[in-house]
Amino acid sequence: MTGDKLHQVVVYGLGAMGRPMARNLHQHGLLIGVKNRTQGKTQAIQKELGLTAFADDAALFAAADTVLTCVSADDDLKAIITGIIPLLKPGSVVIDCSTVAPQTAHSISDDLAAHGIAFLDAPVSGGVEGAKKGSLSIMVGGNRDQYKRAEDIFSAIGSQITHMGKVGQGQATKAVNQVMVAGVAQAVCSALAMAEQCKLDVKKVVEVLSAGAAGNWFLENRGQTMIKDEFNIGFKLDLLLKDLHICQSTLDSMNTSLPLVQNSIADYRQLSEAGYGDEDISALIRLKRCMLNHKELTSEKNNDA
Ligand code: NAP
Repeated sequence: MTGDKLHQVVVYGLGAMGRPMARNLHQHGLLIGVKNRTQGKTQAIQKELGLTAFADDAALFAAADTVLTCVSADDDLKAIITGIIPLLKPGSVVIDCSTVAPQTAHSISDDLAAHGIAFLDAPVSGGVEGAKKGSLSIMVGGNRDQYKRAEDIFSAIGSQITHMGKVGQGQATKAVNQVMVAGVAQAVCSALAMAEQCKLDVKKVVEVLSAGAAGNWFLENRGQTMIKDEFNIGFKLDLLLKDLHICQSTLDSMNTSLPLVQNSIADYRQLSEAGYGDEDISALIRLKRCMLNHKELTSEKNNDA
């Protein structure tokens, strides 16, 4: 089984990312089943895609050569892996697309290896839009032969797929990505708050700057929405806050730090504590506006009152 291509996938975790990944795997004939903590989401996808409902978890996981996990955070993933290890076939592969710490990828890989199961850490970038289009960037860590076995799976959900090296190096790459994402958000939100303060036509600012040297994806895709106070799209800031803690712990493990990461954690924590945790990361402009106006951030509850 070691050299065979993987083609019998169970997706575990049917959140904003896992659901479209499951749909794309189904379209490519690679999905045999789904599993989610909240049962209703499992049944909805089974019905939508016409999937077989297995008698129980033992039957579901025994039929799989691959389990693709995409769940919230480190402890959730660890608990799931502990629960399914006895049900997985030796020779099968777990591919984790969640964003977790490189250290978590290492410990899960060791636990699985003790039962003859391979592991690839395969965090993704591209957001819910990328997951729906099947155009995610996927950064993979783990054994190259296992990576090769999984190529059809990665092609079904992503368009830029890169083997980064050994286990954990996918997650380390994702941590680097999240430092960049946080830095771009800091730059764009600070600059557009300043444009508002200068009483500029900010819509025009976004248009003209997008075409110049400061142009970037975040400005083009979130610039016009953030100036209209629309924050219900994209990537929840609570998730970026979780990822920034991973960046921090990765830096800690090398006895170093980055002010960008520390400052971004402080900013997003403040927004989260004020009740904005489910908003897109571009809601950072709320805080930048307050800073420029020497005002306190008001909580969402106060705004509603
Ligand atoms: P989400 O919509 O909040 O979904 C989270 C999923 O994890 C749900 O299926 C949830 O089950 C499951 N889960 C959470 N805790 C669990 C536990 N203890 N046991 C079992 N299942 C559990 O999150 P998402 O946006 O899909 O993100 C999933 C992962 O992808 C995260 O690590 C995130 O950082 C990463 N990611 C997200 C994006 C994005 O734009 N959203 C982009 C790149 C990477 P229930 O349905 O039962 O709650």
